[in-house]
Amino acid sequence: MTSRRTRDRLIARLREQGVEDDRVLTVLRDTPRHIFIDEALSHRAYEDSSLPIGFNQTISQPYIVARMTELLLEDGPREHVLEVGTGSGYQTAILAQLVDQVYTVERIRPLQEKARKRIQQLRLRNVIFRHTDGGMGWPDKAPFDGILVTAAPEHVPQELLDQLAVGGVMVLPVGDGEGQVLMRIRRTAEDEFQREELEAVRFVPLLAGTVR
Ligand code: SAH
Repeated sequence: MTSRRTRDRLIARLREQGVEDDRVLTVLRDTPRHIFIDEALSHRAYEDSSLPIGFNQTISQPYIVARMTELLLEDGPREHVLEVGTGSGYQTAILAQLVDQVYTVERIRPLQEKARKRIQQLRLRNVIFRHTDGGMGWPDKAPFDGILVTAAPEHVPQELLDQLAVGGVMVLPVGDGEGQVLMRIRRTAEDEFQREELEAVRFVPLLAGTVR
């Protein structure tokens, strides 16, 4: 078990970096990040860094998880949220404690299976998993009032814009390996989208197809 002090230190650091939403910070403080990381690296779980999770993928940095979640929730509570890129399941676990229902998709099956076990271990029952190419979204469950993407497409996928409800918010990194920017897109009317570019980020790329 990691001491309360270690976790409090991480939260203090996120605050210094500008994360303000207390609900988000409380959930980050109370969610064990070490269970989402392989044992060999778990001593680094409460550092503010991304870490490898296998298959050339990474668990996102706590700052980014906090920031994206805060941006998603700023306009008010979200009921029906699509997460693209389950990865370790850490961001999924944070979301599940702050929104009604999480639909999470991952293209690499073994990562998805590990994430599912961790979410069960935490007794979070409002998460539905799917093994698929998330660039296509999840049309059967659309529209979503929140979409959070944790791998970077070069351009915003039209399918995801189509699956965003009016009044909905999407938070995602966009760009190639050289220069990505964190974006927030609000659908303000059937055919009206407001885009904000927020800060430079570095994510793994959103890839097409699936891996068994
Ligand atoms: N939020 C995760 C981030 C994992 S890294 C965490 O903190 O652990 C991004 C994840 O997106 C990887 O697991 C990668 O396999 C997945 N991914 C990339 N392209 C995808 C796609 N088209 N559909 C679904 N998942 C994708």
